[in-house]
Amino acid sequence: MEKVHVFNAGPCILPQSAIDSAVEALRDFKGTGVSLISISHRTKEWESVMEECRSLWKELLHIPDEYDTVFLGGGASLQFLYVAMNFLEHKAAYLDTGVWAHKALKEAQGIGDAYAIACSKDRNYCYIPKGFEIPSDIDYLHITTNNTIYGTEIRTEPDSPVPLIADMSSDILCWPVDVSRYSLIYGGAQKNAGPAGVAFAIIRKDALGKVSRYLPTMLDYRTHIDKGSMFNTPPVFSIFVMNETLKWLKSTGGVEAMKEIDEKKAATLYAEIDRNALFTGTADKEDRSVMNVCFVMAPGYEELQDEFLSFAKARGMVGIKGHRSVGGFRASLYNACTQEDVEALTACMQEFEKLHK
Ligand SMILES: *Cc1c(COP(=O)(O)O)cnc(C)c1O
Repeated sequence: MEKVHVFNAGPCILPQSAIDSAVEALRDFKGTGVSLISISHRTKEWESVMEECRSLWKELLHIPDEYDTVFLGGGASLQFLYVAMNFLEHKAAYLDTGVWAHKALKEAQGIGDAYAIACSKDRNYCYIPKGFEIPSDIDYLHITTNNTIYGTEIRTEPDSPVPLIADMSSDILCWPVDVSRYSLIYGGAQKNAGPAGVAFAIIRKDALGKVSRYLPTMLDYRTHIDKGSMFNTPPVFSIFVMNETLKWLKSTGGVEAMKEIDEKKAATLYAEIDRNALFTGTADKEDRSVMNVCFVMAPGYEELQDEFLSFAKARGMVGIKGHRSVGGFRASLYNACTQEDVEALTACMQEFEKLHK
């Protein structure tokens, strides 16, 4: 097969070592003679995977002891509901920076009093609103640190007088986060941490137990903390691959090293977008995402969009079509995507420019 360069937005590229280990474990999990997807999750072999995953996660993200992490099914979208159920008592504010942020807000509005404190929909979410006042009497402020669809990102958290809650689905593990500033950080694994099927929630333990509503057992974070994410059957395959992904991340130097690598990849691609007369970026420069790079054909070249997609596809580029709500192109540069992949894409853009300019 010809070399491909995977820029899928999620599920996305994962390290080859994680994929190889998964293939082996599907055949024979840790020399037990039993497949990973057939073993009981109540065995010591499985418990050691769970333990390793939890401890690598804690180590790589420098999670303080006051926090616990749970690994759950249901994706980030079910976390939207968990957030409101577990934290919304009187009123909550949401920063509306895109489709996912908006969905999180809508879910909370079904539970209680939640509102958008600021919104960037007026320019199709191409920027991060700034300068808004955060009231001190709300339960929490919810932010989406990276807007996967629009390619914008919050690099510095707002100075918040109230607990911060963040959806970090698409930029967790790409730079060091000061976890202590948050009551909760959550996300789906399939953007940077592992395969689809598992979501993570990093929870400040003393922030729980403050709501008066009845919490169904499965929607109460405390259930999953108490049972080490094994209250019911965990998504064993997804957690296994996530653990392998974390091992790979540690071997590359961890989140600190990844920050340098990821910023270089993004800088390379944005430089080409800004230089190349045929393309233009869609997000405001100061808010550009390091993970999802969104761009379109420059004015006057719009009719070349489909041609560029086929041109790039023929050169091994996979997954660069933009989300249907933005159009154009999106290259997702998650951790396992390499500088070489990015340079293959910029070379392709240069070649295309020569053909048409
Ligand atoms: C993909 C994504 C989601 C939705 O994740 P699911 O696991 O599919 O529910 C939520 N938030 C952000 C920022 C995302 O990128």
